[in-house]
Amino acid sequence: MKRFGELVLVILIFCAGLAAQMQPEDEMFGYVVGIEGKSHQDRADFIKNQLRKMHVGFFTVPFEYYSYHAKDTLNLSGEDIVARIGDGQKRLVVGAHFDAVDSSAGANDNGSGVAVVLELIKSMKDFHWKCTVDFVFFDQEEKGLIGSQFYIDRVVDRKWHYGMINLDIEGSGNEVYVGPVGGGDDNFLMPFVRGAASRTKFIYREKDSYPSSDYESFAVMRLENISISVVPKGDADLLARMTKTGGKIDPKNMPKVMKVMHTPKDRTDQMTPDALKISFEFTKTLLELLNESVH
Ligand SMILES: [Zn+2]
Repeated sequence: MKRFGELVLVILIFCAGLAAQMQPEDEMFGYVVGIEGKSHQDRADFIKNQLRKMHVGFFTVPFEYYSYHAKDTLNLSGEDIVARIGDGQKRLVVGAHFDAVDSSAGANDNGSGVAVVLELIKSMKDFHWKCTVDFVFFDQEEKGLIGSQFYIDRVVDRKWHYGMINLDIEGSGNEVYVGPVGGGDDNFLMPFVRGAASRTKFIYREKDSYPSSDYESFAVMRLENISISVVPKGDADLLARMTKTGGKIDPKNMPKVMKVMHTPKDRTDQMTPDALKISFEFTKTLLELLNESVH
């Protein structure tokens, strides 16, 4: 019996060692595994539980939304989850929507963004922040960017808004796709984004168009914003072109990510930990550079 007890102890120590050494990319991949295929409520609960495990406080922005059009009546509720870290009047927003379309498992869109934001919180919660950062898990993006509009309305103070960084689709390939560049609402952010690109040396593509996501809620209000994705090689060009043609896709020029997005196939077997690592390292470098610039 004593031998058995010792064996259990050795195994426990070994497992604890493994857990301590867990790489960020494996941890992020685990987050996506935890969220894929889950109900809307379970996705929200998963995020809150992870924040509790990290001993990071959070608040929520609950909302009810009604929209009445002739044929299209929308009545939905939701809640953004906000982990506020750092100190200082200037306010950065790092956001990823956590909702998924009903027919999809929602791994890459957007469990991947959620995973990167969770890992950023974990690794930067004790960072020497000179600004306040709202890490926001936006709700009801897929129904029309609704959660981000409520967040702006209720939480954002234009006077102290420093910039919003949106993460949506981070889980496959190795090409960092940044957009939509230009238009006047990224003049402050882009030098730092380019700084992160030259420091990290990842394959980097910036484009003047980018598919719809929560950054648009900020753009409409003329609040500084930019979006970052990690996609398969060549997809940045194809996604930008698709956006310009209003979503019409020539089958010859179908972006690879579009083949699984918003379908039941959007699962972790279509993703890689390495893609999440690229997104994490790029965004973390960007946040470090932005923080350095605060005076
Ligand atoms: Zn999305």
